[in-house]
Amino acid sequence: MIESSINSPSDNPTIVDTHVHLDDLARVTSTDINQVVVDAMSKGVDKFIVPGLYPDQWQQIHQLEMAFPGSVYCAFGIHPWWVAGLNDVGELSNYRQTLGEYFDKYNGIAVGETGLDRLKNQAYDHQLAFFEMHLSLAAELNKPIIIHCVRAHNDLQRLLKKYQGKVRGVIHGFSGSIDVALDYWKKGFYLGIGGTITYPRANKSRQAISALPLESLLLETDAPAMPIYGKQGSANRPETIFSIAEEIAALKNIDSSDVLKQSWVNAKLLFNL
Ligand SMILES: [Zn+2]
Repeated sequence: MIESSINSPSDNPTIVDTHVHLDDLARVTSTDINQVVVDAMSKGVDKFIVPGLYPDQWQQIHQLEMAFPGSVYCAFGIHPWWVAGLNDVGELSNYRQTLGEYFDKYNGIAVGETGLDRLKNQAYDHQLAFFEMHLSLAAELNKPIIIHCVRAHNDLQRLLKKYQGKVRGVIHGFSGSIDVALDYWKKGFYLGIGGTITYPRANKSRQAISALPLESLLLETDAPAMPIYGKQGSANRPETIFSIAEEIAALKNIDSSDVLKQSWVNAKLLFNL
């Protein structure tokens, strides 16, 4: 009996990609979306958290969740890149209501992806208004929030302070210093760690990760974006989660299976899976 428990399925950690745009991966690789999930599962990835991007996309990712129950989980929200193309901020309350109705009907696991991006488009005031709408909805629904932040950390920290104790979540695609990381962690936010840490230029982030507790990290590929070093120019895939785990394991001088195990424990805790 003891022998038979060795190498039993329970010894294999559950592998979760905590931030993956399966719909976008299907689009850029011209692959059927269900096939994208089947392919990733055949490479050893068990669970997928798929962020919302814009209202017309929510139904598609919800259908994927229905096709792969217990494997695919959805968040609903409006990504800052799509905010500029939406109607004016005066329509904000309509979007809040539509988003709230989605949560009533389909019980998304998180609000997002939302946030601030100063690099990608100019509609920054619009982004700020939509981001704060997501924060207040997350507080009201008691759901975690998935945050995208590029070159807007001052505003992000100011807003998170305003909602401190009311909203928890993840800073997706984290890069930055240990001080910034610890400040987010202290405010109730996990750090989403992806392929950028495999790049030679990511020294500051690697130093931060080597000093951060594993309990604060969520592994994510952001596929088809954020390819790992050496794969620039090709669509990123969920199975690169193993390379990210190896990079973190090397920084911490531990086994990559322990990194993967803890990421699943953290994801279950945050997203109530
Ligand atoms: Zn994303």
